[in-house]
Amino acid sequence: MRWICKEHIEESLDAEWRQSATDALTVLNFMGSIKEKKAYLRSAQASAVWRSFYEKLPDRLKHKCWYCEAEEIRSDMPVDHFRPKGKVEECAQHDGYWWLAFDWENYRCACTFCNSKRNFEETQGGKGYKFPIFNEGSRASLPADNYQNEEPAILDPCDPDDDRLLWFDADGFPEPIAGASEEQAQKVINSKEIFHLHETRICRKRNNIRIDVKKHVNNLASTHRPTARAAKSSLRRMIGDTEMLSRAAFVYLSQHRHIDEVQEILDQGA
Ligand SMILES: [Zn+2]
Repeated sequence: MRWICKEHIEESLDAEWRQSATDALTVLNFMGSIKEKKAYLRSAQASAVWRSFYEKLPDRLKHKCWYCEAEEIRSDMPVDHFRPKGKVEECAQHDGYWWLAFDWENYRCACTFCNSKRNFEETQGGKGYKFPIFNEGSRASLPADNYQNEEPAILDPCDPDDDRLLWFDADGFPEPIAGASEEQAQKVINSKEIFHLHETRICRKRNNIRIDVKKHVNNLASTHRPTARAAKSSLRRMIGDTEMLSRAAFVYLSQHRHIDEVQEILDQGA
């Protein structure tokens, strides 16, 4: 999970894109029945809006998945509707957040692994139509309802408080940060299941990052200055938010924060 600054998204969307989203919403609102609306949302005309949203984003915002931080998002449909547009798995009578289908604030770049419902040998999940919230009684089901009152029970890359809740054990397995409240811990656990954050290959990659971080931290103490400098550069790069699995690098580097130079790198990266 990486934090995505909404202002950076907004800056990359031009007037032409905003107009196309407004036009599509006008068409959607014009449709009388939910059945017609859903058919429109499945059309190529509708999906062109979020496809072109993806194209407008600068590379630094879209070269890795916002949920799992893997660089595997070159799929046909890399945009997830955070609030599902067609239906909601946790609420049978819900018709989906169709009115947010063209709202860029509801878009998250996601790899097919995180986005699509599927089964694997050891994990099953994929976000699909899932959108668990803690306060079901406040779930928005109509455009007039304020969805901001909902308390999502999964981590949101666009929430500046959420990425820090995700921690990893010494095998690269995701867990809540120490001291997390019951609700915060539940968000991490739900996200782990829904986004397959505990799948073997990605855990192994995080573990490799742990080993690399340790190697570079050891090199920081080298009396050979070029070696120490290269180690510092590598660590600063690894925790940069455009790097693959940067949250894991941050977590593993934090374990060495008793070393002054490491603390300095963490402060610079924050
Ligand atoms: Zn992903």
